[in-house]
Amino acid sequence: MAAYEDLPENDRNQITKETGREYGMFVQPVIEAMIDDNVLHKVSVPLLAKEIPEIAQLYLANNPSKLTSDDPRTRIARRLLENDKQVAKLKSKLGKTSRADLVPGRNLREFNEFLDANPAFVDYLIKANIRIIFSSSQAKGIGGLYTHADKTVHLESEVKDASPGVFLRLLLHEMGHASFQQVLMTTTPGALNQDEQAFRDAWAVLRRNDGQYLLGLDLGQSRGPVARKKYQANDFVEFCAENFMHRVTAPDLLNQHLIAINKPGNHVPQDVRDAWRDAIAILDKYARLLLR
Ligand SMILES: [Zn+2]
Repeated sequence: MAAYEDLPENDRNQITKETGREYGMFVQPVIEAMIDDNVLHKVSVPLLAKEIPEIAQLYLANNPSKLTSDDPRTRIARRLLENDKQVAKLKSKLGKTSRADLVPGRNLREFNEFLDANPAFVDYLIKANIRIIFSSSQAKGIGGLYTHADKTVHLESEVKDASPGVFLRLLLHEMGHASFQQVLMTTTPGALNQDEQAFRDAWAVLRRNDGQYLLGLDLGQSRGPVARKKYQANDFVEFCAENFMHRVTAPDLLNQHLIAINKPGNHVPQDVRDAWRDAIAILDKYARLLLR
């Protein structure tokens, strides 16, 4: 089970009924915290109905000094309390955010953990004066966008309710416009730098046939792999942003993709292999500059 919504509706209703009115509001958050916990929780409807009130009581007692054990019940209560702190945590790192309080704590947590692991990127965002609006009317209907005039990353309201992994990827895609793309692309009109030229040359090969040999991840409804490849094929800056996101949030999937491209004896044309080799060299060079 990857999302609360994957539970059959009958089971959800039964759990809510058995949990009782007092703790009904904890059903979804507790189950989501179990999913995020990344440890296999063997659960059943009766077990969840029993555990949810217990976890809710630990959470409501809000006494972290008593939540030190590593048993699953304690761990989930601790996670719920930690999720509540994510807005403050983000604001302490990046002052320029708006409406972070509307984003579920479990989603902000993914972003905070990424920022914790990459202090150099936090420095970049602060120096470049980048702002994030999490529920932006400017992004309505398009997921997200970056507006360079006011150095703002916009996410539309619906994105905040995506799963934590998809939320992070959509946010890091826009961050790719704000960082990698800006650093790569020269601001001098008419003068391309060598790296931008090489990245553009690679894109010119990889964009053929709707980006057949590009990497496309599943980023939710209407953002499936085929759509994401086409998106990158149609616009160079989307190729920049998406591959920055891949490099940051899915390095293993990117590596697997390159291994498949370079597999001896397959039918991938040589110029496609060469284009990927050139693109990755540039992506890695700028990732080293921006991350960690
Ligand atoms: Zn984009």
